[in-house]
Amino acid sequence: MALERTFSIIKPDATARNLTGKVNAMIEATGLRIVAQKRIKMTRDQAETFYAVHSARPFFGELVDFMVSGPVVVQVLEGDNAVAKYREVMGATDPSKADAGTIRKEVALSIGENTVHGSDAVETAAIEIAQFFSGNEIVG
Ligand code: ATP
Ligand code: MG
Repeated sequence: MALERTFSIIKPDATARNLTGKVNAMIEATGLRIVAQKRIKMTRDQAETFYAVHSARPFFGELVDFMVSGPVVVQVLEGDNAVAKYREVMGATDPSKADAGTIRKEVALSIGENTVHGSDAVETAAIEIAQFFSGNEIVG
């Protein structure tokens, strides 16, 4: 087992409904450890940079509008196989296709308002973590 870090965002649909604690409880139940966390309001610049890989997709404008529509909680999660483990508990991008017991099945509203982000690889996790945290803000 590889000890990894992944980057997580609890998205505006969850902060608006006061569900950050519920999401954190589901994260911690998997054994992943929240080793950094802060609540921020993303700027449009930050959201566009973060989702730059999707800039040509038809939903990009809607995605950026949503990510700046309210507070988010950015996090670093640490544990064995953290990247894959978090993707598993997040569930499918579209909550109607997510497995029972996953965060998106239990909490998300739609494919756009889908409650959480998690990095898709160790390399992207490192880039995403560095966009929001300095080293001394991460305490493992
Ligand atoms: P994330 O990157 O947020 O963890 P993901 O990896 O499951 O989610 P991606 O394909 O990377 O999914 O899409 C990024 C985000 O863009 C999704 O989480 C979702 O909020 C939004 N998105 C993806 N597809 C659509 C769509 N068809 N319509 C609206 N929004 C979408
Ligand atoms: Mg993604």
